[in-house]
Amino acid sequence: MSDYVSYEVQGPVGVITLNNPPVNALSVNKGVLQGILDAIKEGEHDHHVSGFLLIGGGRNFSGGADITEFGKPHEPGLATLPDLLAYMDTVTKPIFAALSGPTMGGGLELALACHYRVASANTLLALPEVKLGILPGAGGTQRLPRIIGAERALDFMVNGDPIKADEGLELGIIDEIVKGDLLQAALAWSKRALREGKTVRRASQLTAALEQNTDEFIEAARQSVGKRWRGYPAPLAIVECIKAALTLPFDKALGVERAEFGKLVKSNESKALRHLFFSERQAAKISDVPADTQLIPIEKAAVIGAGTMGGGITMNFANAGIPVTMVEASQEALDRGLGIIRKNYAATVSKGRLSQEEMDKRMALITPSIDFKSISKADIVIEAVYEEMDVKKEVFEKIDAIAKPGAILATNTSTLDVNEIAASTSRPESVIGLHFFSPANVMRLLEVVRGANTAKNVLATSMKLGKTIGKVPVCVGVCDGFVGNRMIHTYLKEAGYLLEEGALPKQVDGAIEAFGFAMGPFRMSDLAGLDIGWAIRKRQAATRPADARYVRIADLICEKGRFGQKTGAGYYRYEKGSRAAIPDEEIEALIVAESREKGIERRDISDEEIVERLLYSLVNEAAAILDEGIAQRASDIDVIYAFGYGFPRYRGGPMFYADLVGLDKVLKSIRHFAENPLGVHWKPAKLLEKLAADGGKFNA
Ligand code: NAD
Repeated sequence: MSDYVSYEVQGPVGVITLNNPPVNALSVNKGVLQGILDAIKEGEHDHHVSGFLLIGGGRNFSGGADITEFGKPHEPGLATLPDLLAYMDTVTKPIFAALSGPTMGGGLELALACHYRVASANTLLALPEVKLGILPGAGGTQRLPRIIGAERALDFMVNGDPIKADEGLELGIIDEIVKGDLLQAALAWSKRALREGKTVRRASQLTAALEQNTDEFIEAARQSVGKRWRGYPAPLAIVECIKAALTLPFDKALGVERAEFGKLVKSNESKALRHLFFSERQAAKISDVPADTQLIPIEKAAVIGAGTMGGGITMNFANAGIPVTMVEASQEALDRGLGIIRKNYAATVSKGRLSQEEMDKRMALITPSIDFKSISKADIVIEAVYEEMDVKKEVFEKIDAIAKPGAILATNTSTLDVNEIAASTSRPESVIGLHFFSPANVMRLLEVVRGANTAKNVLATSMKLGKTIGKVPVCVGVCDGFVGNRMIHTYLKEAGYLLEEGALPKQVDGAIEAFGFAMGPFRMSDLAGLDIGWAIRKRQAATRPADARYVRIADLICEKGRFGQKTGAGYYRYEKGSRAAIPDEEIEALIVAESREKGIERRDISDEEIVERLLYSLVNEAAAILDEGIAQRASDIDVIYAFGYGFPRYRGGPMFYADLVGLDKVLKSIRHFAENPLGVHWKPAKLLEKLAADGGKFNA
């Protein structure tokens, strides 16, 4: 038997225990699945054994497939999950499963192939394959609808999110939730079931229930799933598997699942999603910071500024159960900030996504204060005051004087030099940038900005803390805009050039949204507000090089008092209370007039050109960022764009996408853009030229 599976007969029950910590991954090559198979075979021939109980040793049943085996060949002669489950379908003694903790993916498919399932209350159930652009490929799409009905199974698999044990009980995945020691309780349950004469109950022999007409149900599902998951093939493939579950015998339906799975695995969308899955994990690693770096314990936090960002950042700590002091310059601003936090939580409570009790608990973790001294016990202080260097320096001098030795001093600046801020303190090694995105309580991306003097333990602790508060932390270096905003800057500039040359906002937005972006550049600008950029540009006017191409359209729009959604008009106009962008003839006329004024002859620009120019502006800048070492690796940039900028996940991020197109092709297009007299700003990045010449890739 495998080292990772133990087998012991307890009365009439053969107990099979998975012992592959930390999550009991169903490794083929370690012989975990073969071990289960061998144990079942042993018990089948043992006349003392009337049934089996499958249980996870440690804290859960099984988290699913072993991800380190993805894409790798299996050792010959060892059972795979489909092999094991097919065999289980021939066993004539009942198989009981005792579930606990995360029971996910292949782990749940294994449980579904058992005949009865009991669970402890801490069990979490999910078939999350859809998130990797695939589907449950070991019979899950066939057994689940046969157990809980087609409609519920479809929802569960398309969604992919975990549900708790009580919901699993209600759905019918779990037969009973048991209390106390799981092994003892499940063993007692199994023995009683055997005494009561419970026999095998194979999901494969059940019929998938549906209360409506199959064709109508499937057609409606294709429509709604297709719309909700535009661009993602896996949810639609799951619909086809559900159809098979409703219309075909089990064996034939399994064939449909296999075929759909095979198509998905090879799809670019699945490759992109898997790339992001692994990239997110990779992003947590920093090449010169050892994994065992001693971390600074973070038990108390402080946030300076209770504005848009400070309030959201404070919520992140309260959500994670970390006491947080929120400091403002005036009582009025403090009350306002706290009021917004309370309103945000109350909205979540009214939607039923948070209990009143939990809201009260979180509010109680927040200590509002107008006294800077109240930060003296914090292990981390995050500054989120106005974006002005003088203000930041003044605030950091104060923090430096009060914060305890060893505390992390973080700034949420989006454009200012973290090194200059650090230099205003006596302890630059403790200073770091933590660049949250707005709304800070919602957006997952966190750029962790490593200053020239930032200590390794400060960096490692910040990365870990990012995870603790539910973010996706990515380490970046200091430069104007760091990674995400520096790239978006070139992208927005390119979008402006497209307007001058012949496109209109709706065409530019439409083209990139059809590519999959959540929002095109002009809708995004209207949402963010046009006034902040306008103010910055006015400040920079004196230092702007005279030969730089400057698009005035945004300024002209601001001069009309149109600052975007908040004023009901920007690049588009908005009906009162609505976020729907309505193309505005006034702005279109303004754009056409501006082209004329500049002597630019407007031309028809294809959607293809729009998409290429916008995407390659990102890619070219990213190549420079990589070359300068501002980002550690190409995949980090993909993570930043997928989690912070609405880049379609199924496209894998700008670097993954460029690799897929082929860097030689990307370079050729960029050179072609540069030939246009209006394209002089297109200068291929050196790294792109080098990789294209060598046939290389960003994500090698
Ligand atoms: P904001 O104007 O909404 O909030 C700033 C708050 O800081 C105000 O409430 C102000 O009263 C307070 N404040 C100013 N001086 C202070 C002092 N000396 N002591 C205590 N409080 C003080 O601004 P915001 O949008 O929250 O931005 C804050 C920071 O976050 C800026 O550095 C900004 O660049 C950065 N940032 C903003 C965004 C965004 O989308 N808004 C995104 C990422 C980063």
